[in-house]
Amino acid sequence: MNPVSAAILASLLVVRAVETAAAILNLGNLRPEIPPEMEGVYDRQAYGRSQEYARATARAGLTRQWVDLAALCAFWFAGGFQALDELARAWGGGPVLSGLLFVGALLLLSALLSLPFSVHATFVLEERFGFNRTTPRTFVLDRLKALALALALGGPLLAAVLAIFAHAGRSAWLLCWAAVAAYTLVVQFVAPRWIMPLFNTFTPLPAGELRERIERYAASVRFSLENIFLMDGSRRSSRSNAFFTGFGRHRRIALFDTLVARLAPAELVAVLAHEIGHYTRRHVLKGTILSLAHTGAMLWVLSLLMSRRWLYDAFLVERASVHAGLVLFGVLLTPVEFVVAVALNAWSRKNEHEADRFAAETTGEPEQLVGALKKLSEQNLSNLTPHPLQVALHYSHPPLLRRIAAIRGAGSASPGASESTAREGAATAHGPGREHREAGGMPPASLLGR
Ligand SMILES: [Zn+2]
Repeated sequence: MNPVSAAILASLLVVRAVETAAAILNLGNLRPEIPPEMEGVYDRQAYGRSQEYARATARAGLTRQWVDLAALCAFWFAGGFQALDELARAWGGGPVLSGLLFVGALLLLSALLSLPFSVHATFVLEERFGFNRTTPRTFVLDRLKALALALALGGPLLAAVLAIFAHAGRSAWLLCWAAVAAYTLVVQFVAPRWIMPLFNTFTPLPAGELRERIERYAASVRFSLENIFLMDGSRRSSRSNAFFTGFGRHRRIALFDTLVARLAPAELVAVLAHEIGHYTRRHVLKGTILSLAHTGAMLWVLSLLMSRRWLYDAFLVERASVHAGLVLFGVLLTPVEFVVAVALNAWSRKNEHEADRFAAETTGEPEQLVGALKKLSEQNLSNLTPHPLQVALHYSHPPLLRRIAAIRGAGSASPGASESTAREGAATAHGPGREHREAGGMPPASLLGR
């Protein structure tokens, strides 16, 4: 093993070790007694179940992470990248075609590796805790749709990136960035209207008390009712959630049918107000801009490293190429992306506090939002006492108790005084709806992390 390989491997091990330590500390932070704030919301049995759920998901998550790393190392040190490169070139057809084959084969391998974990998560873990509503048919169809979308949307973009880097010389990264930015904006713009309905059914709010209350509130903050939909979340899971996504004409707030079934109308208005808060504060648009800035920086660094011999030597690849450079750079960057994710989660948690504050102020009923969040936490078996390191690494939403304290603080104290800048876990990384969110670019700003 050459020194660069050793350094890369060491950095991957450090990332995994930190994640494992955070998960273990997190389990150590589980307390047998119910926090006073949540007495009467959780009973002893539900509280025990939420802890059992935290343990089970931690075990599954750690297994998956270490198996992923072991598979990568086995592939790497057995010369897998080199063998696949030879295979892709053997087809002839130039840098774009061999690049598509090389990257496509790796994506397929990684999808195959993750399949048993997804099956286990959906049909064993979620099933055991009473969340799963996904039928095997829906599960298979979801995967086929995601694959078709990846081919139809991701294929042409990848082909464009490969062609630009192969032919455009020094300014290639800038051209690529422009292509990726245009593509992201278009997909993000049309996703709520054209992509998300491939996975879920969206219907306008039915007439009745709830619609009237929502209409009154939406009018008071000048948000069009036409952008508010019910979504059949119950098709995949009994979990409740709500989210805001997209921008411009196709922006959309989705309230899960499971949410509407469980909350009182005033609580639902509070949740809706939170989502409108994301819209008013332009969180989705800002997130898209941040993500594009990040992509630009990555493409620039990629352009600097792509022709360096040491990158290919470290992964036992003989010939430099755009496609291999792209993939190997991705592995090399894992620790950097790990740190970037921590920063983005912190930013996301700040946004959640902002949306909460908007809801509390515009409805004038902070306790309705508090009540809604408590109910949802209980139903979704949220961990009430996550360890701060776990929060920093994985929480895209602030822990419930901190969120409640901030909502109550916002009503009386100076704004922002009780704000934390901690970040929350990636809402995209868990549960159903993952595919359409990923296909839609940036994750929607949702009510709960998981
Ligand atoms: Zn939110």
